[in-house]
Amino acid sequence: MTILSGKDLNKEYVNRDRSVRPLQHVDFELNQGEILGIVGESGSGKSTLLKVISGIEKPDSGKLYHMGKEYTGQGPEKTGKFLQMIFQDAYGSFDPRMSMERSLKEGSDESREEILRVIGEVGLTEGLLGRRPRHLSGGQCQRMSIARALLSHAGVLLCDEITSALDVTTQAQVIKLLMEIRDKERISIVLVSHDLALVSMICDRIMVMKDGIVVDNGETAKVISEPSSDYTRKLLESVITV
Ligand code: ADP
Ligand code: MG
Repeated sequence: MTILSGKDLNKEYVNRDRSVRPLQHVDFELNQGEILGIVGESGSGKSTLLKVISGIEKPDSGKLYHMGKEYTGQGPEKTGKFLQMIFQDAYGSFDPRMSMERSLKEGSDESREEILRVIGEVGLTEGLLGRRPRHLSGGQCQRMSIARALLSHAGVLLCDEITSALDVTTQAQVIKLLMEIRDKERISIVLVSHDLALVSMICDRIMVMKDGIVVDNGETAKVISEPSSDYTRKLLESVITV
């Protein structure tokens, strides 16, 4: 079942002397319980796509659907009920003056029991709830932002380079956590990353973007074994060194 989709999405930014088109006729589909990877080099339009899907930015044209119902033009206050963004900078996504417990309570009216359940689910302990973001490690802070997203009971997580600021070991742990959550809670995940190796390991399907255009799209095994674009082939060559 398709939970989220977009049709013919376009977005242009016009600066003083030049314009950029980070989304050009982009279509996407996210199925229930799936992890969809979006890869491409820096500047290819990945973050713009997530911002447009979440309603932080509006597309110039094109349409967005949640469970078949159009939601184009809705901002994060509305889309937050069915999707949540998780950013690279976990620290920056929390109020530095507030304890984790207050931050987690702010966005939801969940009981302390539910907060403790979710904290356990993301692999953290109760003792960390009294801390401010700066007194957590990068990995702990990113787990807290995943916990906050889970407390909203949105069915979709949009993850933008969420492991890029973490060391390699912590990266692997956070990715493992995402896969566990997907299995346990049956949520659907869009995982944006410039790292094709990572994406190909955990995603069911992959979309490859280049300069605002989707140049490859399909099941992971198929995109990897039979890429339809030269660009994807080049990305693959730079990953597979054996
Ligand atoms: P990625 O996440 O793949 O690195 P982005 O979506 O952040 O790519 O950016 C795609 C292109 O759009 C880049 O050329 C970037 O400079 C440009 N861009 C992104 N946001 C803005 C903005 N608010 N104003 C002008 N240009 C932007
Ligand atoms: Mg980006």
